[in-house]
Amino acid sequence: MVEKNINSLSLWFFQHLLQHREIRHFVSTRNGGFSNPPYDSLNLAFHAGDNPEIVLKNRKRLASASGIPLDTFTIAQQIHGCNVKIVTKELRGCGAFNYDTAISATDAMITDTPDICLLVLQADCVPLLFFDVKKRVIGVAHAGWRGTVSLVAHNTVRVLQEKFHCSSQDILVGIGPSIGPCCYEIGHETIVQIKKAFHNEKDHVNSETPDGKGYFNLWEANRTQLVQMGIPERNIEVARICTRCNHTVFFSYRNQHTETGRFGAGVMLMYS
Ligand SMILES: [Zn+2]
Repeated sequence: MVEKNINSLSLWFFQHLLQHREIRHFVSTRNGGFSNPPYDSLNLAFHAGDNPEIVLKNRKRLASASGIPLDTFTIAQQIHGCNVKIVTKELRGCGAFNYDTAISATDAMITDTPDICLLVLQADCVPLLFFDVKKRVIGVAHAGWRGTVSLVAHNTVRVLQEKFHCSSQDILVGIGPSIGPCCYEIGHETIVQIKKAFHNEKDHVNSETPDGKGYFNLWEANRTQLVQMGIPERNIEVARICTRCNHTVFFSYRNQHTETGRFGAGVMLMYS
């Protein structure tokens, strides 16, 4: 990824997605906003307990820096599941100004409609951005351990293929900043779920300890799902930025051990 300072706001970009003028995208940080601790400062989430007026002010700041209008922001009520919602123009702007209008119970969204910014929010969970360069379809997914184990990334590619006739060869994916294998300690129960979900779980859980703990590699567990769906490795850019190690730049739930804000990863198709 590459960091750019735009109107004095730091935004991060996937290098392969930057090559395509048909889309705009970004990954925001925790800096440059108006929220007080523990949401300091660019918290984008209404559901985390922050003052909604300040959240709106933060979103306006992001919209003006990214050049993506706030009324295009389309956000879901994320539930750590594997549902994929197809976003039509009637859903444009759902969740932009409050939580109640956000699309219910989904962690992945896809659209081929321009002028809709699909946005996922997280603090340690993995944001994934998708773009089919030929069919001009975009997608986002939010994958914590539950979403990863329930194969939300896999499902997103499946819907791209089945509903939008995308070819895996044409799909670019960015795997954004999220808690890394250096920091994501998990317990025995979670390891059992991972073993159920993946045949090659040894690639995803590092250094299992005698007391049954281990470190989960969310990046690899999501990347593998994409490769298994036929997406070429060269099409997948993994940020390899750990949010806990970089908790001064990104929100990290694990670092704060309490309430925290959420940063965003968004993508929008432009009118051609
Ligand atoms: Zn780390």
